[in-house]
Amino acid sequence: MKLKYSWIYCRQFKKNVNIKKLKENTTEFRELFEKHKDKIIKLIERYSGKKLDKNIDVYVVERDEGGSFHDPLTLKFHENNKLMFCIFIHELVHHVVDVGFGSEREHNVNRIVKKVIKDLNLNLDKEFNEIEGFAKEKYDR
Ligand SMILES: [Zn+2]
Repeated sequence: MKLKYSWIYCRQFKKNVNIKKLKENTTEFRELFEKHKDKIIKLIERYSGKKLDKNIDVYVVERDEGGSFHDPLTLKFHENNKLMFCIFIHELVHHVVDVGFGSEREHNVNRIVKKVIKDLNLNLDKEFNEIEGFAKEKYDR
């Protein structure tokens, strides 16, 4: 699993992309990613009972509208890098959870995300609450 900062891919979401700046602004995320990715894969496999594809690349992009999505795993820049990190876990879990639709699926995904975050023990409760809020915003109108 690798992080990708692709100018040509970023261009699909925003006209003026400064990759160097994007890299600088995601230093904390990159450190969290490199330090914990192997453990995250193990935990997701444990809690889902499924094998995760180790060749998934993670594309970091900037975009004003729309969010992150899981295939290809595209992660929207957030000032709060810890939030990005939680969203990364969420999108990764989507690769093994395909049960339910809409808010039900989001709930199934977040149930695993919650366990993974708890085991990582990085004090990400606030960020987890935020991503649970995203699912509510998207589906419960
Ligand atoms: Zn989702």
